[in-house]
Amino acid sequence: TTTHFGDRTVPTEEKAGLVKGVFSSVANNYDLMNDLMSGGMHRLWKDDFVGRLNLPAVARATGQAPRCLDVAGGTGDIAFRMAESLAAWLPPLEEDGAIPLTVSDPNEEMLSVGRERQQQRGIDASCLQFEVGDAQSLPYEDETFDVITISFGLRNVTDIDAALREMRRVLKKGGRFECLEFSKVEPAPLRALYDAYSKHIIPEIGHRVADDRASYDYLVESIRKHPSQLELLSQLAMAGFKSPTVRDMTFGVVAVHSGYK
Ligand code: SAM
Repeated sequence: TTTHFGDRTVPTEEKAGLVKGVFSSVANNYDLMNDLMSGGMHRLWKDDFVGRLNLPAVARATGQAPRCLDVAGGTGDIAFRMAESLAAWLPPLEEDGAIPLTVSDPNEEMLSVGRERQQQRGIDASCLQFEVGDAQSLPYEDETFDVITISFGLRNVTDIDAALREMRRVLKKGGRFECLEFSKVEPAPLRALYDAYSKHIIPEIGHRVADDRASYDYLVESIRKHPSQLELLSQLAMAGFKSPTVRDMTFGVVAVHSGYK
């Protein structure tokens, strides 16, 4: 079988390796490039995404920090925001050995940038851990986490349906799944503008700043090939998530899909 890798069609079993190459080569510039390409917008999207999780309310209800898994968590942008919002509940009480925040990502280079940032921020290992893992086969038992997030990660996985089922598997009953991802821009005139920006400007920034046009060509194409808001919504339902919903930000440049187990 074949699948998309950017604008190329490749054997399905090759995609993961190709994606790994992209993120290994962008890891060191990843945070800077996000700022440049989104004009800083990714920070606002992530702030809003984590803010609306309202983790302190979950903590108040149970008396402890919820166990959160950030899949495709890369260099930790989501997890650091979670740590900040849960500051009053961290570090966790000694008796319960579980580490509240886990970042999972298959890419060692992204994880090691994340671990460095954790040290710089002085976030203790009892609060947050970075672990190797693939969204399609997570190394955790069934029903381990209260909250599972994936931010700008889902479009990189080879089999989105398998990843959705796998994330639901490790979610506790009643737990919440939230996905932040690029989506389809509406209305059409805005979409044309956005397409022109992504097609011409983003690879050019990648070329000039990171000397890596190919990786940024891939990123743009992977956004174009990603399912629309409604397609992904029905995939959530098919994977078994209850009450799936979607909400656009910035005219659908990004969308947040949510569901419960
Ligand atoms: N979540 C971070 C953020 O919002 O800044 C990083 C997003 S980055 C665009 C995409 C991440 O997806 C990379 O770190 C990459 O290694 C990871 N990734 C690629 N394939 C994956 C897979 N099959 N399962 C889980 N993560 C994957």
